[in-house]
This record gives sequence, C-alpha cells and structure tokens, in this order.
Amino acid sequence: MPVKKNLQHCGCRKKRAVIVVGFKCINDCHFCVAADKRTLGDKSTEDIMREMGDSWKDGAREVLFTGGECSVREDIFELVAHARKMGFEQVYLQTNGRMFSSMAFCEKILLAGMTIFNPALHGPTAEIHDRLTRAPGSFRQTVLGIHNIRKIARGRVPILTNSVVTKINYPHLPALAELLASLRVSVMQFAFVHAMGHASSSFDEIVPRKTDAIPYIREGIRIGKQKGIRVMVEAVPFCLLQGYEDSVSELYIPPVDLWDKGWRIEQFEIVRKNEAKMKFPQCRRCIHDHICEGPWREYPEHFGSDEFQPVERESLVVKNSP
Ligand code: SF4
Repeated sequence: MPVKKNLQHCGCRKKRAVIVVGFKCINDCHFCVAADKRTLGDKSTEDIMREMGDSWKDGAREVLFTGGECSVREDIFELVAHARKMGFEQVYLQTNGRMFSSMAFCEKILLAGMTIFNPALHGPTAEIHDRLTRAPGSFRQTVLGIHNIRKIARGRVPILTNSVVTKINYPHLPALAELLASLRVSVMQFAFVHAMGHASSSFDEIVPRKTDAIPYIREGIRIGKQKGIRVMVEAVPFCLLQGYEDSVSELYIPPVDLWDKGWRIEQFEIVRKNEAKMKFPQCRRCIHDHICEGPWREYPEHFGSDEFQPVERESLVVKNSP
C-alpha cells in the first residue's frame, strides 16, 4: 500500500538554462506561442555561447535549446558540442523533430553530444498533426525522426515527446498515446495549449474547455501507464487530474534560467507562478494549494474559474521524477 500524505515538489532537479536560439521555424503551428516574435530573427552563435557561459557560472548544469526551431540552425552541432565541452550534463533539443528524418543529421547531432531528444507530435495521423503544424509532410518527418533516434541511440538518449492539447486534437489523444507507445518513447507529455501568439488570435478555434479535454487526457495517461510509459500533463491543475496527481508536470520542472531574445529571467519559475499563472479564492480550501501553480492566466480570463474546484481530501505522495 502506498503511503498516504500530501504531494510534494520533487526537489531533485538541477538548474536548467533554457535558451531561445531565435524564431526561425519550418512549421507555422496554429497554436505557436512565439508567433508574434517571428520577425525578431535568430541570435548569433556568439550570443548563445555567452549565455551558456553566464548560466554555467550561475549554477546551471543542464541546457535546453528551444526556439523557433533550434535544429534548422547551421551551428546547432557546434552549439551542442560547446555545451558538452563546458560540462553541461544534459543537453536537450526541444524541436519539431523534422530535421531528424535525416539519418545523417541524427548521427551528427548525437556525435555532437545531444543527450535528450524532445520532439513535438500533435496527432496520431498526418491529417491531424499537419493541420496543426500547417506544414504538409511534417507528421511523416517527425515520426521518422523518432524512429531514427531510437534506432541509432539504442536507448542511450531518452525521447521525451510533447503534444499540445487543442480543440482540434483532444479527442484523438488516446490514439496519440497508442502511437507514442508503439514508437517506444521514454516519456510523453500532453501540454494544455497556452493562449498566446497564434493560440490567442485563434482562441475560439484552438482552445478547448479543460473539462471537455480531460476525459481524453485521462485515457491517454491510462494507456501510457498500461504500456509502462510515464505520461506527464502540463498546465492542468491537480483538481482536474484526481487519481493522476503524479502526472502533473509542474511538480518536476527544475529551476530555470530563461534566455529569450534581448532579455533574461534568472528564476523563471517565480515569474511563471506569480505572473503567468493564476490561482483563485477557492484554492485556499484546496489541499494542493501549496504546490499548485493553477492554469495559465489567459484561460480563466476567458472562461472563468468554475472548473477549478478545491480538493479536500488527502492524495498520494510523488515518488519518482520522469
Ligand atoms: S482548486 Fe486551485 S489549488 Fe486546487 S488544484 Fe485546482 S487550481 Fe490548484
């Protein structure tokens, strides 16, 4: 029998430098949070190396490259190799995964030192995924990319997928979980859409009610767990995931040193909790109040807070990080 007590944050993670390398991308996702920044272009190689150096001095021991799309940069191999040479223990590539459809690209990026592959797959079919990415052929390339990394790395490089939950794909999350399990990914994450950028300008088309999506998210978690794969869910509070509280991603996110283009936030987790997310008066009666971040604030600003009802009983302790 598991020990019954309140959930706790996992305190075992190292500080992570999250470096936005720029905004160039070969997809044009319907929900892209960075859509408004596309004209800002990419950072220089020197700027990114300097940012890595500053984060290292300030205690970061992991680095995650994101964008835009980091893998389309010609210097991506150089950046990854530099990060490893500096001593970063983990080098994540958060990517749409399309460049990984080339075996030569996969060999080169593994040789450079990528340690964690973090591709995005948003649907179980080309029809759904490509409709969301607005890039014909992207589903085929991303799936091939996952195959390729699994084949070459032979389990040495974990594959952590991310799938943005939208009005278009939420009924298909169970089928997506089946597909990701068949691709033998290490961890799958369902991230509820954040209504910024394109997702803000297309809010009615893209953002579902959480309570409509939850049954499908829960079924996705059940399928993943049944196949022995950890499933995480981002931006959905504990009150909507009862029974699956240990899948709440926010429990495991490490301290983050965020480098956007032109500005840095050294403790992004504080800004995320205090400014970007929102809690409600009723949360004060909830047993998860002390660890819960609430949803991204744009959601209750649009839909209100009725869906978030306090949990007034004990839950299970979180034992393992993903
Ligand atoms: S009621 Fe509030 S504190 Fe409790 S899980 Fe929901 S959002 Fe979080």
